[in-house]
Amino acid sequence: MAHALTLARWQAALAASGCPVCRMAQGAGRDFLIQVLREGKAHAEVYERVRDAGGFCEAHTSLLRPLGATRGGDRRSLARLYGWLLDDLASDLTPRDPCPACEAAADYERASLAALRDLLHPVTGDADLRKRFEDGAGPCLHHFVAAASLIEDGESFRILSDVQARAWEALSRDLKEYLRKHDYRFSREPKTPAEEQSWIRAVAAISGTPVEGGERIPPENHDERD
Ligand SMILES: [Zn+2]
Ligand SMILES: [Zn+2]
Repeated sequence: MAHALTLARWQAALAASGCPVCRMAQGAGRDFLIQVLREGKAHAEVYERVRDAGGFCEAHTSLLRPLGATRGGDRRSLARLYGWLLDDLASDLTPRDPCPACEAAADYERASLAALRDLLHPVTGDADLRKRFEDGAGPCLHHFVAAASLIEDGESFRILSDVQARAWEALSRDLKEYLRKHDYRFSREPKTPAEEQSWIRAVAAISGTPVEGGERIPPENHDERD
């Protein structure tokens, strides 16, 4: 069951753009926030982790308001949560633990990397998932290094490093074309959607996090005089 769940999550993450491990880890952090907003003190153990951490880190705090409005009910769930925190933290103003949503994300990150190691294995892995992984854009630099350190099977390691090499070569080609077509001599040549998005994908490939607002740039909306 756990295997099927991780396989389904890997399939979904590979169907989307960007690093699949980043996507799954971010999803786990978001799921944690949704759980806190929905269940509040009814899930005492989860609430206590939030209390002991003195709330959330900046990145997860910034997700709370939009999540509260859409997934966790309404603004009252956020008001209630912070009302409890103000009362409970008043007697002890020293947060003891790291952000629990970051911890949930890190736990899932470890689990998804271990699953990748198992799924890529040529004998005991999943052939369909392996093919999807081979056709994908590969993980970000941080998650490539993390996966490489975990994989012991030679064939699995070859798949991982081939995917990464191919993906980075293609990205580098797109990025060079993007820059070349910004030169006034070639600026009438249309850019492909992949080239338009190449600088955004390059940032994500190295840092794991997309450029803020970059995804809002329409792929074909290019000013030729730019
Ligand atoms: Zn990543
Ligand atoms: Zn956090």
